[in-house]
Amino acid sequence: MGTKSTHPGFHPISRCDGIFQEQIHDTYQTKVKFPEPTVCPQCSAVFHKGRWQWLGAPANAHQHNCPACQRILENQPAGFVTLAGEFLVAHRDEIVSLIHNVEKKEKAEHPLKRIMATEEEGNGIGNRYRYSPCSWYW
Ligand SMILES: [Zn+2]
Repeated sequence: MGTKSTHPGFHPISRCDGIFQEQIHDTYQTKVKFPEPTVCPQCSAVFHKGRWQWLGAPANAHQHNCPACQRILENQPAGFVTLAGEFLVAHRDEIVSLIHNVEKKEKAEHPLKRIMATEEEGNGIGNRYRYSPCSWYW
């Protein structure tokens, strides 16, 4: 004889304590598909098969700024990443080199993944380094 009983009408509710993926709302990632092929007159990226790529631009391509160039023209970075602290001071050149190497690798395959600008503040040894990406989708 079991000791477990349920009341009529009882429905267990499952708990979902998992971590939710935060949604990123990026107005520069348009839901509208560009006509294909479309070439960006600023950087020559081509919208082909639903995404921006580094391809040779066909002669009859439509022209429209890619989201990264539009952000640059409007000076609207996707955000800012600020680095600071003793570790940055001690390893500034390595860290900056790593950031630019990652950008170079990502940008080679994904035209929208690039750094818009970098800036440094401090007493000449880089106390604070900030860069602003064109996209959060890295
Ligand atoms: Zn572009």
